[in-house]
Amino acid sequence: MIAIVGRPNIGKSTLFNKLARRSIAVVEDEPGVTRDRHYADCWALGKEFTLIDTGGFDPFDEDPRSAGIAGQVKLALEECDGVIFMLDGSAPLTPADHEAAKLLRETDKPVIYVANKSDSERAAHHALEHYALGMDELIPISALHGRGLGKLEDRIAEILPDEMPSEEDELDESIPRVAIIGRPNAGKSSMINRLLGEDRQLVDDRPGTTVDSVDTLLERGDKRYVLIDTAGIRRQRNVRKAGGVEALGVYQAIRALDRADVAVLMIDAYEGAAEQDAKIAGLAVERGTALVIALNKSDLMSAEQRKKAIDHARDVLSFCPWAPLITTSALEGRGTNQLLSRIDDAVAEHRKRISTAELNRFFAEVIERRPPPTFKNKPVRIYYVTQARTRPPTFIVMANDSKLIHFSYARYIVNQLRQRFGFQGTPLRVIYRSKSTRARARR
Ligand code: GDP
Repeated sequence: MIAIVGRPNIGKSTLFNKLARRSIAVVEDEPGVTRDRHYADCWALGKEFTLIDTGGFDPFDEDPRSAGIAGQVKLALEECDGVIFMLDGSAPLTPADHEAAKLLRETDKPVIYVANKSDSERAAHHALEHYALGMDELIPISALHGRGLGKLEDRIAEILPDEMPSEEDELDESIPRVAIIGRPNAGKSSMINRLLGEDRQLVDDRPGTTVDSVDTLLERGDKRYVLIDTAGIRRQRNVRKAGGVEALGVYQAIRALDRADVAVLMIDAYEGAAEQDAKIAGLAVERGTALVIALNKSDLMSAEQRKKAIDHARDVLSFCPWAPLITTSALEGRGTNQLLSRIDDAVAEHRKRISTAELNRFFAEVIERRPPPTFKNKPVRIYYVTQARTRPPTFIVMANDSKLIHFSYARYIVNQLRQRFGFQGTPLRVIYRSKSTRARARR
């Protein structure tokens, strides 16, 4: 994980988008889920990394001015493997730059310094001055015009490890990998403790298990789960004071979701679901993990308040009505069995495969009931459907021309798939393909 940090409004998001676009074919976003994207899987000289735009987190800081850039930088250094620190190449240094640079000098994590807007006349004027911060190298770039990005990518590739750790590959694929995500204080650590506390065979580093040291194996009867990044969640307590409190949940989620089959989004029901919860849920949907929502701290609420909290959460998380939602109390240990059983169900749906024969029988009905509308007078034909992948279930719909499939018809198809086959707890992907044109992905 590599974060782009720097003062607000100097071009962090522009750089983020440029680097992301160079690396990936961005999948079409589902409206409402990811209006603005703050992380992306990227490649630099063939090495994969996750790039994070911390600028996107700014609005969610409790008080951006007091938390300031120092909080951002501290958090990024804490949570990431390296940072790209951006200066405004066309302007003099500010006290905030000095403050951030001081923190960066103290870290042993790799830092890449870039001076953005280096294509401007004024840039040359300030170039030397910026070296006063004491870095060895300052890469002049123009995020807007894409200048200097090749060199930046070289540097990124240099700080990435040559090979990703292979430990994970050895893990038993059948054990569900659970990421517990949510805003700080939602009760994630408490829930983990509760789950593990009731499980007397808690194993962290039992010889012979290949669980990452940051993860924890949970055994319940004959069932096993890997709770991902429990170390990170517990560590959160110490980082909270560093500022950027709201962003913490996002960092943790991005890191954990990468390796997860299913996400448990914990929400402080007493406080109520908020935009930030939707954002974290959106990350899970985007990643394609299964999702279970736990409205925690139900012990603080009356039955009526709980009902209101559920309605409100459904409202805020309206883009994933398929995710099961339960109320829990990590404090009193209520809802933990239900939580595990929802996880089991969601994981099963996430891994479910429908045979091509069954799919096509079903699609024949679906299309007959409501044929795809013609588009600009061109007839739309759907030839066949197949499930290409599981985790999440991914369907390929072969059409004469995928561009002719109207958005509302794509919606109809997804709804029909859910109505018929369930898929409770998992996002779905439906990719429309035509022989001549590029694939077009829709969820
Ligand atoms: P995390 O930041 O998401 O890991 O949250 P913690 O597990 O650290 O919990 C934050 C605070 O909420 C702590 O003071 C917990 O004791 C409290 N808490 C957690 N779960 C519950 C719950 O179900 N009910 C109540 N009343 N408090 C809870």
